[in-house]
Amino acid sequence: PGHGSRYERSAVIDLDAIRHNVRRLAAAASPAKVMAVVKADAYGHGAVPVARAALEAGASWLGVAHISEALALRAAGIDAPLLAWLHTTESNFGAAVAAGVDIGCSGWELDRIVAAAREQERPARIHLKVDTGLGRNGAALDSWDQLVGEAMDYQDQGLLRVVGIFSHLAVADEPERPETDQQLATFRDVLAVAEDAGVDPEVRHLANTPATLSRPDTHFDLVRVGLGIYGLSPFAGQSSAELGLRPAMTLRTLVSQCKEVPDGQGVSYGLHYRTQGDSTLGLIPVGYADGVPRSATGGPVRVAGRTYPVVGRIAMDQMVIDLGGIGGAGADLLGAEAELFGDGADGGPTADDWARAAGTINYEIVTRISPRVPRRFI
Ligand code: PLP
Repeated sequence: PGHGSRYERSAVIDLDAIRHNVRRLAAAASPAKVMAVVKADAYGHGAVPVARAALEAGASWLGVAHISEALALRAAGIDAPLLAWLHTTESNFGAAVAAGVDIGCSGWELDRIVAAAREQERPARIHLKVDTGLGRNGAALDSWDQLVGEAMDYQDQGLLRVVGIFSHLAVADEPERPETDQQLATFRDVLAVAEDAGVDPEVRHLANTPATLSRPDTHFDLVRVGLGIYGLSPFAGQSSAELGLRPAMTLRTLVSQCKEVPDGQGVSYGLHYRTQGDSTLGLIPVGYADGVPRSATGGPVRVAGRTYPVVGRIAMDQMVIDLGGIGGAGADLLGAEAELFGDGADGGPTADDWARAAGTINYEIVTRISPRVPRRFI
């Protein structure tokens, strides 16, 4: 907080909205269970508070990319089942085994995981990951047989337990495309191969948020939902509200200067915007160092019930809105609350609007809000 009761700059995280969204997704997924994906500091929302809220609302698993992210959750006292799926040869598999963190395994990790299990004198918990078409991490299809065989040998020796088998979808956000059907068929095939080899996983999982909402046939035992628990829509043509979701992050600040300038005044680096007529400029103390994309000129800022587009270039620490003519409604807004995005209720600006302005996706808008912006949990 600054002086007084108002916050200068904050990303307000509504944990009630998180709980609401988890319940909404759990209802869509049922009887499959919910893994709340809280990687990247819960898409910028704060991993520990979000993980706790998601578990309260009925999520039974947590998912992250890196073992380091999983260990931070364990250090905060969170003991729910927790999967980390993206590793390097320097990843600390021993710490993961010791902390009871499930380890996603695409193949090359297997021997290292087993070495860690031996060292810790404790079986590792692994989820075999298969690439069914995304072309990213996961075992290649022609290595699947061999990976399953090796994992079962190690399981028989008591060195690990194959807790899960999973894959990730490439185009679930575009429901009309055929590749999801192909990935689903491939996933069923690899499950059959694993089951023939004696694997009996607790959880088979494939669906992300868009598949959870649009493709019940992809749910299996567990869905891995990220974007939806933050209240954002994965579908280009559908808003959060249309999906029954509530955006959880509000990015707000205070107008930090209001000044009158003449007609033709250039604004910000490059002077690409010029005022049309004598104008009042409002300064917004948020910039690309706070994670707002520099490319998002035109993005909306709501002040005193009206929405103004950002004019000129977004700078490292600040951006400018044109509040209109001199002596008009905008003349006296120093210290007024400025909202860049929020839940969109009452027609307010949203992360989707900023994504459009920047030519990116809503995932990137919230995830990039930098640690310089204090998170405030309500
Ligand atoms: N599963 C995996 C493997 C992921 O990498 C991600 C995020 O990218 C998710 C699930 C969650 O996806 P979404 O945010 O679309 O729900």
